[in-house]
Amino acid sequence: MKRTIYRALYGSRYDRVPWGQRIYVRPGERLAREVQWRLRLRRAELLTLAEYRERTDLGEIEEFVVCHLCGDSRQQPLFRPTGPKGRWSYQVVRCPGCGFLYRNPNIRPERLGDLYANGYSAFLTGKYAADRRRRYRLTMDSFHPVFAQGGGRRLLDFGCGAGLFLELAEQRGFDAAGVDLSPDSVAEANRRLSRARAYHGTPEDVPEIAVGGFDVITLWSVLAHLPRPLDDFRRFRSLLAPGGVLMILTVNAASLQLKAHGSAWNGFTKNHLMFYSAETMPTLLRRTGFAGVAFTPFYGDTVEAGTTKLSEPLQRRLRRKVEASDGGNMLRALAFADDEAIDRWGGGLKVRHLPKYEG
Ligand SMILES: [Zn+2]
Repeated sequence: MKRTIYRALYGSRYDRVPWGQRIYVRPGERLAREVQWRLRLRRAELLTLAEYRERTDLGEIEEFVVCHLCGDSRQQPLFRPTGPKGRWSYQVVRCPGCGFLYRNPNIRPERLGDLYANGYSAFLTGKYAADRRRRYRLTMDSFHPVFAQGGGRRLLDFGCGAGLFLELAEQRGFDAAGVDLSPDSVAEANRRLSRARAYHGTPEDVPEIAVGGFDVITLWSVLAHLPRPLDDFRRFRSLLAPGGVLMILTVNAASLQLKAHGSAWNGFTKNHLMFYSAETMPTLLRRTGFAGVAFTPFYGDTVEAGTTKLSEPLQRRLRRKVEASDGGNMLRALAFADDEAIDRWGGGLKVRHLPKYEG
């Protein structure tokens, strides 16, 4: 049925455009999706936490939570992402106070290790690794010159997995270290790295890391997995040296693709817990003592790398739509520890200053 409507509207013009790009290039689609999104929010039920608990099942490793960003306990159930053959499923709610999207029930932090007991080492080769490296490079470039030359600066990669990024960081001259919850991945990382080191555990488990003084901390696709983001970000802030920056790549809760695909959005993966946008992330940063933040729009890896098959005019259209809605599928942020960091690294970026949090 839907297919028939799109066929009538657009003919076969956009058939060869990949799904991930199509909604950004079909004329009128961005506005239609925005309207659809606002209607969805208006129609969504608004429940007290008590009402919500009443009607929601709680798994063994789960707990009910309230909005981590603003403390509002009211629940607006929006999505129920479900894995292939129903192997997993969870409920995503929206905070009516600040618009934050999060999984509720969430995973109990002490059971988080259960999700990562087995490593990701299998993904280290071939196209997966090449795609990953390309994404790292494009994102680093977008925050130029932070990552251009390490010059011996100290870098911590939080959630370093099997060390794909640490490898790039040591090549660029950073004095790099990583931590990860998966012992298999850490062992694999240390087999491959020369100067950089990976450690199993959390930063406070590792004396070399707990001393802090990092110039750069990176979170590559890690933020959505954190069940206690405020605690973690306070720790990151204290681990940063004066003038230090925190780089974040995560799925974008304002993505036009989420607005179009709903529960089937590819950002709703099995282990994701919280979903940030350029609207909600500043609250997390402000509350944990950061002085500013800059976002760079995400146009998709093939567009940014210049390997897309889209024509030039369609590429321009895609870029315009991404910018108009803050609607790229990934969110990229550079958070500044203090004013010195803004002076040093904020030059070519649109920096949003964050007022001091009195809480
Ligand atoms: Zn909230």
